[in-house]
Amino acid sequence: MQELLRTVFPSTATVNARGHLVVGGCDVVDLSMEFGTPLYVFDEQTLRERCREFLREFQARYRECQVVYACKAFANVALLRLLAEEGLGFDVVSGGELAAVRAAGVDSRLVYLHGNNKSRQELEEAVGWGVGRVVMDNFQELSMLEEVAAEARRVQEVLLRVSPGVDPHTHVHTTTGVLDSKFGFPIATGQAGEAVRLALASRHLRLVGLHFHLGSPIFETGPYREALRITLAFASRMREEGLALGEMNVGGGFAIAYTRDQKPPAVAEYAEAISEELVGQCRSLGLEPPRLTSEPGRAIVGPAGVAVYTVGARKAIPGVRTYVSVDGGMGDNIRPALYDATYEAVVANRAGQPPSERVTIAGKFCESGDILVREAHLPATQPGDLIALPAAGAYCPSMASNYNLAPRPAMVLVGGGSARLIRRRETYQDLLAADVP
Ligand SMILES: *Cc1c(COP(=O)(O)O)cnc(C)c1O
Repeated sequence: MQELLRTVFPSTATVNARGHLVVGGCDVVDLSMEFGTPLYVFDEQTLRERCREFLREFQARYRECQVVYACKAFANVALLRLLAEEGLGFDVVSGGELAAVRAAGVDSRLVYLHGNNKSRQELEEAVGWGVGRVVMDNFQELSMLEEVAAEARRVQEVLLRVSPGVDPHTHVHTTTGVLDSKFGFPIATGQAGEAVRLALASRHLRLVGLHFHLGSPIFETGPYREALRITLAFASRMREEGLALGEMNVGGGFAIAYTRDQKPPAVAEYAEAISEELVGQCRSLGLEPPRLTSEPGRAIVGPAGVAVYTVGARKAIPGVRTYVSVDGGMGDNIRPALYDATYEAVVANRAGQPPSERVTIAGKFCESGDILVREAHLPATQPGDLIALPAAGAYCPSMASNYNLAPRPAMVLVGGGSARLIRRRETYQDLLAADVP
């Protein structure tokens, strides 16, 4: 347990004298009684520590930099306010996420709009509100944004998302910066160069820099270096077209530990590799060092979140395996089914007990693929026990669905021994509210 607390649980996690898991000073058993399960518990201290670590490690190594939170990892108004307090910017990929950051009252100039197929309406909403940057992903969007900005009588600052053709060695579904990807203008084909010329010729767009996002999670620093070499060499060639590289945005993808054996680089190692490569390449190419932007999503919220479920049915198939079913699953965490993601699990109401059996933790959704943890080592569980999955803050609630018309879980923010509800559990009425009978 000590090893798990150190590697995958939020930094405040402990086990109390009753043998219960405690996060942010709150006994998880008490939380489950107050708010029900499935429940997502976010640790305020871990969230703040992650923001500060990113800012500190990048700022210590590079003169001018900004950390922008990728909202798609988890967007909730209370959480966004907390991250804004810590000084992060916000990267959104849809009109819905744009509405969330607006509702959180963040400074529009710190907002980046991404997406490979932004609608005209999304562009109008973004330009109308005055977002800091729109990150251009394709040729249609370049002409559409030029029109939208002209109508709004604005000059919109933009970045171009390039695809440098670098494989970050992660799951094929989360690889985004290779040549065969729906995202970005490929450098190798000359399309990125064409996009630079078009953007520079646009009267209502001001091209301030370049962006890439390679994929996620990336457990190595090498891909960032390689992508920087390719992209900066491209920026250098584009100088004669008139490109002045004012900003270099290296995307996100910073890995976290989901299981005790995973060893992601420290934030400092990513920051070191990125800033060293950026400084070194700029020096050798004779480029003015641009402002550096990074866009962590997973690495900010992932380690802060713990999912809590209640054990129900148990099915032992002699000689095969034992299924322990819980009251959530792929509706609130689709990552195991989608990417073969792996998690640790503990019994939160008996966190001090050593494991005594190997079971498969199944969800309650009507899919055989709805398995949360294929190989969990747990003390013998009974119905009513609580199972906690750490590292569940990113891409779990944000990818949640209402499959099987399951209400999506409640979420609490914990700190200093108190818990605040930041999203209530959905009701059946919520599920049916948009139906038109
Ligand atoms: C998803 C995404 C990110 C964040 O990725 P993480 O793995 O959560 O850090 C950053 N930038 C862009 C453009 C993205 O699409």
